[in-house]
Amino acid sequence: MGEGLLFGEGDFPTRARHALADGQLRANLGAATTTIRERRAAAVGEVADWEELRSAGARIKDGSLAALDEMLVDFEEKFSASGGVVHWARDAQEANAIIVDLLNRSGAAEVVKVKSMTTQEIGLNEALAEAGIVAWETDLAELIVQLSADRPSHFLVPAIHRNRDEIRHIFQDHIPGIGTGLGNDPAELTAAARSYLRDKFLAAEVAISGANFAVAETGTLGVVESEGNGRMCLTLPRMLISVVGVEKVVPRWEDVGTLFQLLPRSSTAERMNPYTSTWSGVTPSDGPSEVHVVLLDNGRTNALADPVGKEALRCIRCSACLNVCPVYERVGGHAYGSVYPGPIGAVITPYLAGVETVASLPFASTLCGACYEVCPVKIDIPSLLVDLRAKHVAEANRKPLRSSEKVVMSALAWVMADAKRWQLVNRLGPLLGKLTRYRWARLAPLIGRWTENREPPVPPAHTLRNWRNNHQGLGEGMRHE
Ligand code: SF4
Repeated sequence: MGEGLLFGEGDFPTRARHALADGQLRANLGAATTTIRERRAAAVGEVADWEELRSAGARIKDGSLAALDEMLVDFEEKFSASGGVVHWARDAQEANAIIVDLLNRSGAAEVVKVKSMTTQEIGLNEALAEAGIVAWETDLAELIVQLSADRPSHFLVPAIHRNRDEIRHIFQDHIPGIGTGLGNDPAELTAAARSYLRDKFLAAEVAISGANFAVAETGTLGVVESEGNGRMCLTLPRMLISVVGVEKVVPRWEDVGTLFQLLPRSSTAERMNPYTSTWSGVTPSDGPSEVHVVLLDNGRTNALADPVGKEALRCIRCSACLNVCPVYERVGGHAYGSVYPGPIGAVITPYLAGVETVASLPFASTLCGACYEVCPVKIDIPSLLVDLRAKHVAEANRKPLRSSEKVVMSALAWVMADAKRWQLVNRLGPLLGKLTRYRWARLAPLIGRWTENREPPVPPAHTLRNWRNNHQGLGEGMRHE
């Protein structure tokens, strides 16, 4: 498990309750996700063959995952032949150790970073801080999160839970020289961040990035972004280190062409993202002279080995499923307690961290299916969540410790297995009805939590069996008609 993957106390229901109590958070999330949803729908609506494109994207990712071992070797061969250095990391500790060692040998005390979920997953910034190395996030939203010692809450918009005024206050409190005159206009806020980061870009000897894709046939890595900070990081420093999940590899360049028709429209609602940077090893006199890539497993092969779970590895991190999720929209990313929030986070995190470690996450969904409908690579997230719930139940059944739910279900199974027992319980219906009217369920420890958010149904005064017995004649008459 990656040591940076999980954060926060308690389980999803506890954190969600906390988030729901924050009116400002809900307002910020509601406004942002509504806007992104509408823009995405318009951008996708322009493409006549969107459904065919989705199917093609799914096929490309499935084909890549089926031949992952061969493609990774191909990638390593090509990337190395071009002067790049490939490192393999089984988990977060190995990846961090490799990167800290490279930085120690370079003598760098500071690095600039391109926004990367994978480096958050491995807790890289914390590992660098322990080694005395300062990491500067250069993406605007990541900078906001870093300055406020916060956690990202969205794949694409890590500071989606903040509004303009909050960002203005963060800049005033943490960027040296920003006066109280700073306004909350986006252009003004962006200019403040740009001027703060400019010196860091120019001074940094080393940059760290992730990658949106890795092409096996050419040994090429690529990053897409909107602000140009990535381009600066990928070209100015002397050394570049990229941390890339093994599932990012695709066989051919033409596959990237298909995925690039899906990704920008699904994520930023753009026809094409403003900056696309690609590199294959080292190019003399152009860009970094020392280029490394750390290929990371960190639980991905667990998902790959699972006949159902491997579908989750198709994910291209566009974030469309977060923006349409009614649960995410109300509780935000922090409630998931994972670097990967939202519907796909509720699927990926259990595979990376272990189902029982984050047992509440697969239940953080209404299973409404909106996430599947927008996913550009057709990941059937609701079915994956149901499968994870089944895995959790199977695991719970193996444990000797009996949960209250299991006790109730076992008792019900015992009663329903025998007609006489079932009839006896049915005869208790009127009595249960009276007790329910006195809200006994809130006092009953076994089903008290079940009734926290719902009224227990009042058992009817008469069962169907009673009714039939009392209306035998009527029933016979009806049968004869
Ligand atoms: S699961 Fe699909 S919709 Fe969600 S982030 Fe991944 S690719 Fe995008």
